[in-house]
Amino acid sequence: MINTESSNIGDIIQNQREFFQTGKTKDVNFRIQQLQRLKEAIIEHKQEIIQALQADLHKPELETYLTEIVVIKEIDYAIKYIKSWTKPKKTELSFDFFSYSAHIYPEPLGVVLIIGTWNYPFQLTISPLVGAIAAGNCAIIKPSEIASHTSSIVAKIIRKYFQTAYIAVVEGGIEASQKLLAEKFDHIFFTGGTAVGKIVMAAAAKHLTPVTLELGGKSPCIVDTNINLEHTARRITWGKFINAGQTCIAPDYLLVDKKIKKDLIDELKKCLKEFYGENPANSPDYARIISQKHFDRLVKFLEDGKAIVGGETKSSERYIAPTLIDNVSLENSVMQEEIFGPILPIIEYTDIAEAIALINSRPKPLALYLFSHNKNLQKRVLQETSSGGVCLNDTMMQFGTSSLPFGGVGDSGIGNYHGKASFDTFSHNKSVLQNSFWLDLKWRYAPYKSKLPLIKKLLG
Ligand code: NAD
Repeated sequence: MINTESSNIGDIIQNQREFFQTGKTKDVNFRIQQLQRLKEAIIEHKQEIIQALQADLHKPELETYLTEIVVIKEIDYAIKYIKSWTKPKKTELSFDFFSYSAHIYPEPLGVVLIIGTWNYPFQLTISPLVGAIAAGNCAIIKPSEIASHTSSIVAKIIRKYFQTAYIAVVEGGIEASQKLLAEKFDHIFFTGGTAVGKIVMAAAAKHLTPVTLELGGKSPCIVDTNINLEHTARRITWGKFINAGQTCIAPDYLLVDKKIKKDLIDELKKCLKEFYGENPANSPDYARIISQKHFDRLVKFLEDGKAIVGGETKSSERYIAPTLIDNVSLENSVMQEEIFGPILPIIEYTDIAEAIALINSRPKPLALYLFSHNKNLQKRVLQETSSGGVCLNDTMMQFGTSSLPFGGVGDSGIGNYHGKASFDTFSHNKSVLQNSFWLDLKWRYAPYKSKLPLIKKLLG
């Protein structure tokens, strides 16, 4: 069996194509076994996964369970439903098709590429893999080089439990990514920033390869007056500062009704103390920024507006305190770029129309949050804005349910995954129409002349 470490990318793809041609991956029982194997591999190596995430992001163990190892729930979900997902589905036909039957057969695409990112570096590479396996594909995974410890453990696990001709890992940075992108795949699943997403899509276009792009953007969080203040503050604090704000669906900035702004800020301050103590630098529950480059990028944002909480940084540790900033201008860079760090600008509005107009003046976000009991307001925001997903009265939890497709719209992404959506992403729905031999009406065959009046009558 060919070894990923010493083989070139072309050989790996060729071997995977040959393995796919054997038809083995089309067997549903084979897929279930491979999903079970993946789950066992994760459970067996969970201590190493925890250590890798600690080394890459100072990720607390509980967060690693909740946001990385939790991917085993996706595996369980796929195992539970795979038999119904793979079954051909009968479709309805109109009366003129009375002698036919019609079915949709989901079939695997072939050899797919999964390019991962660094912020949830384990789950964001393994979760798409679950879909690729469930749908019956071979896969090559390229984890992010920036979370290098996690990249190593992903490679170690996959190489130990799977043949390279079925699932392979190619480690490396931009160069490795570009070598992979030069090849023809049957699907490319990419998670990362919008700029690289465009590079991936351009490379895929050369081979007419379909893509799923899981990108980012600025996800707004609207806070109305009609709320439970304590719950709201706690849920925002958690969603914003988990993983030190390096979450694609973290609330990027707050849009707060002016009447409740002061109370909300007081409550957020209380939560921050409750979560991370007087000095979050000493908290075992607070992560660090992934790299010096991202640290420097974030420190620049601290020049915008006025830090009312936090603002402290420690370059040697890549530590940035959880920070709330007020008096921000919409022209400031912190309000122009995705923050992707522990800095939360607070912007007030007097009428919800202003908040909606601001959201609609910008690229469509990956997530939108609204805290409000008010059903009419909920309806209005849902109707008047567009985003990849929405979570009402909470943050981030929409990512955690396998029954909801997860993905962006517009600049925040193309396509979606999780649960059945992952299976669909990595499948082709083959339409199969069958006629029978008991009758052969001649209305569609030449010579046409005598049949035209009837066709005209039927079709106007
Ligand atoms: P990154 O730098 O790790 O890049 C992602 C992947 O692209 C890596 O595997 C990297 O090797 C590769 N890559 C980087 N530059 C490339 C190039 N020029 N050509 C080819 N491949 C290249 O991650 P990032 O882009 O910094 O990721 C952060 C972004 O990801 C944020 O915008 C965040 O919102 C988004 N994100 C989205 C999701 C989601 O599910 N939608 C999840 C996490 C992160």
